Amino acid sequence: MKSARIMGPNEPLAVSESKNPKPQGNQVLVKVKSVGVCHSDLHLWEGGYDLGDGQFMKVTDRGVKYPVTPGHEIVGIVEEIGDSVSNISKGDEVLVFPWIGCGECPACKVGNENLCDTPKSMGVFQDGGYSDYSLIPNSKYLAKLDGVDPDAATSLACSGLTAYTAIKKSNQNSPEFLVIVGAGGLGLMGVQIAKAITKAKIICVDLDDKKLETAKEMGADYTINSKDPETSQKILSICNDKGADSVVDFVNAPPTAKLDLSILRKRGNLVLVGLFGGSIELSLVTIPLKSIVIQGAYTGNYNDMVELLDLARNGTINPVISKRYTLDEANTALEDLKARKIIGRAVINP
Ligand code: NAD
Ligand code: ZN
Repeated sequence: MKSARIMGPNEPLAVSESKNPKPQGNQVLVKVKSVGVCHSDLHLWEGGYDLGDGQFMKVTDRGVKYPVTPGHEIVGIVEEIGDSVSNISKGDEVLVFPWIGCGECPACKVGNENLCDTPKSMGVFQDGGYSDYSLIPNSKYLAKLDGVDPDAATSLACSGLTAYTAIKKSNQNSPEFLVIVGAGGLGLMGVQIAKAITKAKIICVDLDDKKLETAKEMGADYTINSKDPETSQKILSICNDKGADSVVDFVNAPPTAKLDLSILRKRGNLVLVGLFGGSIELSLVTIPLKSIVIQGAYTGNYNDMVELLDLARNGTINPVISKRYTLDEANTALEDLKARKIIGRAVINP
């Protein structure tokens, strides 16, 4: 098989050939049709996360081992199954749930493998889908597409799934005004999902007017380019000068986190999703006085992924796939995402 692999932080991805693995037991070999290019692949490529104050969290300290094949939004056709597999057959078109856990910790036991204490996520801690074949550790991590477009389906494994979890959390206080920060791969899914499952008026913020235009087409009621120094005041005035009930931040860097806190109303709910990183100073007293909730959201579980497939099948959500690359163009795909040239998601068709 042919894979585009990250050899080490910031080194160009190398395309290499290896022998196709033979699936054993519950394993499944999938011939990859399409794999989404996520901003998290960029963090993996850069070697970690910005902690602020010149500090850096290395992914190798979190268990990543280079070289690694990235790609956690994998769609393909079942090529071969292990002896014990019965729920999936050769030729099935499938979406892979990549957030694999240990199966034994408290999170895994209640079906939230995405929050496992010792995660084994595909495309992060084990090889993923920037490859023409991918070995899936267990057939229970596969869901049949049953008619969903393969390129569109890729984004349901991460960008859609993460946005779904985050929007559900942002809906806990039944928001009248919901602000979505960052209209990238995750944010545009967030806008569509918020339109479908909340009653909120949606205000979308980004630095790029083209992405904001797309956000409007996807259902945002208001869009604001945060290059505008009056962004905070403009949002407050849309929210009747009381502030937003909920904010979902798909960037989560110092400028956006400061914006979030400045626009959150009393009893507000802030959901932090992006891994851009950095650090900010927090005025502690405002948290109890305003009784705000600050929470994180990390990907989602298998059942949510299956629910999302249903939403895509019935047309409630339509993932935006704007660009397609070959495996040999993996470096260009990542560079283009870094340069903010991608609207919605790009995919690699190996
Ligand atoms: P993307 O590159 O597709 O989109 C990022 C968007 O943020 C772009 O539209 C960009 O213009 C905008 N942006 C950047 N800086 C901004 C700023 N200061 N103000 C306003 N907008 C700004 O990225 P993506 O694939 O959507 O991922 C977004 C983030 O979420 C990444 O850090 C990614 O690693 C992270 N992520 C988190 C999870 C999770 O489970 N928590 C899952 C997947 C991805
Ligand atoms: Zn992702």
